[in-house]
Amino acid sequence: MSDRDGLIWYDGNMVPWRDATTHVLTHTLHYGLGVFEGVRAYNTPRGPAIFRLKEHTERLLNSAKILGMKVPFDLETLMEAQVAVVRDNNLESAYLRPFAFYGSEALGISAKTLSVHVAVAAWTWGAYLGAEALEKGIRIKTSSFTRHHVNVTMCKAKTSGNYVNSILAFQEASSLGYDEALLLDVDGFVAEGSGENIFIIRKGKIFTPDLTSALEGITRDTVVQLANEMGLTVVEKRITRDEVYTADEAFFTGTAAEITPIRELDDRQIGNGSAGPVTKALQKLFFDAVQGRDDKHSDWLTYVR
Ligand code: PMP
Repeated sequence: MSDRDGLIWYDGNMVPWRDATTHVLTHTLHYGLGVFEGVRAYNTPRGPAIFRLKEHTERLLNSAKILGMKVPFDLETLMEAQVAVVRDNNLESAYLRPFAFYGSEALGISAKTLSVHVAVAAWTWGAYLGAEALEKGIRIKTSSFTRHHVNVTMCKAKTSGNYVNSILAFQEASSLGYDEALLLDVDGFVAEGSGENIFIIRKGKIFTPDLTSALEGITRDTVVQLANEMGLTVVEKRITRDEVYTADEAFFTGTAAEITPIRELDDRQIGNGSAGPVTKALQKLFFDAVQGRDDKHSDWLTYVR
């Protein structure tokens, strides 16, 4: 990833991609106390547009607030930085990675006295779990790794270190031949995927776990709004894994995963084993919105040119 052409916004300046480096004694590199976002820009009939930029940037600043990290840039500057990396790299569609991290002035546990740096990179990235996954759905496995307890590292912050848990879960599922992991919370209820929120459909109703130990997903919020517009209510409740086994449909949501149907959990086929009708209807509304074909949600898009 580091050896390529392009520009990265780094502490207020556009720097050549290869020069966007940091010292090996960077505090965040050692302890994981950094915050980041995953954002997408889509190609629309009016050129590239960033999806729900303000909400992602607010979540970045909230993640920093939760950790007590003082980001030296305000919301507007960080939003402009994201627009600039898509524009200045001439990207038509992109995945954006804003990242705030502590500097290398000291390596004790406390980060209080350290400088805070921000970088924003953007590059072309297709369907996260593969194009076929979006159409046919994926096979997932309940993880042996439990999602973070709500009072351990704070689940509402998109903290770098929280992803150790996600990586362990994903790598375990992947090495067993599954496409993604499903993590349960400390009480054994369904929490989320390694980088996705989950929805299930049972008897015409849509359910999603409450947000106790899952990330407050922006795609999740988008899907709730789109479902409501379709006349469907989304019920937030504790969900058990056997409710997923016997669901008519299930899908993951995330900026990277978009809306990915789930066709199997723990080798049990869900519904008819392919993307169900409600999932497909929501996918259509979602892609219409993100790709600028739906005027009703134009406020979700920030055009870069
Ligand atoms: N949960 C986790 C753990 C994630 O990493 C992500 C991806 N950011 C999500 C859920 C989905 O969030 P969003 O829809 O905002 O990308």
